[in-house]
Amino acid sequence: MPQDAGLQPLTSLPGVGPALRECLARLGATTLQDLWFHLPLRYEDRTRLVPIADLRPGESAQVEGVVDAVQKGFRGRPQLRVAISDGSQATLVLRFFHFRGAQADQLKPGTRLRCFGEARYGANSLEMVHPQYQRIADDEPTSVEETLTPVYPTTEGLGQKRLGSLIQHALQRLPDDEELELIPRELRAGLKLASLRRALLFVHRPPPEADVSQLLLGVHPAQRRLAFEELLSHHLSLKQLRNAVRRQAAPRLKGAGALRKRLLQSLPFALTAAQRRVAKEVSRDLDSDEPMLRLVQGDVGSGKTVVAALAALTAIEAGRQAALMAPTELLAEQHLRNLRAWFEPLGIDVVWLAGKVQGKARKAALDAVAADASMVVGTHALMQEGVVFRELGLAIVDEQHRFGVHQRLALRDKGREGERIPHQLVLTATPIPRTLAMTAYADLDVSVIDELPPGRTPVTTVAVSNARRHEMVARIRAACLEGRQAYWVCTLIEETELLEAQAAEVTHAELSAILPELKVGLVHGRLKPKDKSAIMDAFKAGDIAVLVATTVIEVGVDVPNASLMVIENAERLGLAQLHQLRGRVGRGSIASSCALLYQSPLSQLARARLQVMRETNDGFRIAEKDLELRGPGEMLGTRQTGRLEFRIADIQRDAELLPSVQSVGETLLTRYPALAERIVVRWIGASARYAGA
Ligand code: ADP
Ligand code: MG
Repeated sequence: MPQDAGLQPLTSLPGVGPALRECLARLGATTLQDLWFHLPLRYEDRTRLVPIADLRPGESAQVEGVVDAVQKGFRGRPQLRVAISDGSQATLVLRFFHFRGAQADQLKPGTRLRCFGEARYGANSLEMVHPQYQRIADDEPTSVEETLTPVYPTTEGLGQKRLGSLIQHALQRLPDDEELELIPRELRAGLKLASLRRALLFVHRPPPEADVSQLLLGVHPAQRRLAFEELLSHHLSLKQLRNAVRRQAAPRLKGAGALRKRLLQSLPFALTAAQRRVAKEVSRDLDSDEPMLRLVQGDVGSGKTVVAALAALTAIEAGRQAALMAPTELLAEQHLRNLRAWFEPLGIDVVWLAGKVQGKARKAALDAVAADASMVVGTHALMQEGVVFRELGLAIVDEQHRFGVHQRLALRDKGREGERIPHQLVLTATPIPRTLAMTAYADLDVSVIDELPPGRTPVTTVAVSNARRHEMVARIRAACLEGRQAYWVCTLIEETELLEAQAAEVTHAELSAILPELKVGLVHGRLKPKDKSAIMDAFKAGDIAVLVATTVIEVGVDVPNASLMVIENAERLGLAQLHQLRGRVGRGSIASSCALLYQSPLSQLARARLQVMRETNDGFRIAEKDLELRGPGEMLGTRQTGRLEFRIADIQRDAELLPSVQSVGETLLTRYPALAERIVVRWIGASARYAGA
């Protein structure tokens, strides 16, 4: 008997041959415990039949009805429409695009069907597209599932049923509680954690009496027990990564500081105390042969760029290269402009490398990067094949939340020379609360720029019904005629860049017509980079008074004279995004304002969000509020927080677990490293680890 029953190969289960083993391996499952911890993505509620009249669009439900009519049609592609109705006097249309003739023949009028699917609006009634269904004999008594049906993440060639039954088989081999448990009893004491064994059995086969709504929301104690351990495993893994990085060497970066001094003298402002403090923390890290891994967190407008520039100068003075990577082209270009303005007077060229840099220009940039360029700015193109640095000493990544940890590591690896890796500096404006930061960024040291440059006047925020849109236009006219500038932001949630661009084009035409005396510009994600920068330049120079924009301007854009912002559909945006957008104004000394245009009626949640925006400009307060407001309902189905992907945990929903995750994590690492390792392997697997990535 191996020490760890969970490490037995899946081929020890009956019926698992080479083909199935392949499939399972694609899911990352090779051992028994991989299946124990292959958790349901969600549940389907087939414990009841919903009357068709009670169906709600967007919700998945089980219904039963009799076929009234069948229509085979061909509109662009073949389709089959089947209308069913039940005792609730309502009709539901089932729509199929892929079907076999025999299948269509089975769905004759009068046939009784049991269907499960997501209802949505159709032309005349609600419909379900490709529902799961079965025919029910007339004399068959109505029976529903007793428990929620788990739905697992799966892969091609492996159906839900087969996977579900494999998991059930694997569960029969679960060892007893003490053997399964990897968190020592003394650490569990006081945490009120459910038994791990029972939690696993519960989530894989919820008993009939289980609280359905709790389970669907992901807040059942069994789910929380597992979420705790999953969060712990990520925390441990990031800490291990950090320890592994610490053991590598980085070039020690120190110079006389002449370049830094010259930059500081050339700036039209003095650094804030917070900037000075953080810059010093960074310098101290650089002056070491242990690689720096530092996150600089600072609210929008707190002046992170100049801190990064100072770090770059230290690297350059020490004879190394520095690279700055930004997540969008717009933002990268802005960094390019800033850094050129600051560095060229010091005799330092800044090389530009983005996806759109092609042909000769690309070759020239690559040659420079491989030879004598000391400062390189770009997008993720910096990490592409063919980019070879001469001696990268410092990798700076802006707006971390847009990149995953892997991308950050990729840039680091670009600069690897044997055992040596560059120092890493990560900038983020995402003001995540401290507890979250400690887990989401457990591999980084954190510095906070917690002070805005002086002279900034807080942005006054109002919420205005879209019915009063014309008043906003009048305010913009008045402000712009006084020489100020304004943004008009068009937003669509979860729509494509194309739709967003179209919405912005419509608004641009509208505003151009109403404001003939002003120059109205337009910028969106589908413009060519050259056109985009031409427009941004014109706006920066004051040649454009009103800039209609999509959320491409969300991060980093900096035009101090722009003091007015209108955000359309503000009720549909989350707090974090509203705060980022609003951060584009209030960057100069003029009093600025932001109007949040909304469509009535407002949901309670939207109302609460807009209220928060009116009350405060403080990114950290807004982040805390965000956490409070996002009830579990809001978080349903979202297990991603920017860069961490979880099987069951939700870093926001489960935030209150984080302090104990951290303290248990510390103790495990110092006193029980072997157990810590086993927890990481169990949840993250030996292959998909961050460490060593
Ligand atoms: P963010 O932290 O959002 O990236 P930036 O680095 O873009 O902020 O800085 C915002 C603006 O504030 C820029 O115009 C920058 O030049 C200016 N700035 C930075 N530091 C100071 C300071 N100490 N005093 C005055 N203005 C500053
Ligand atoms: Mg910035």
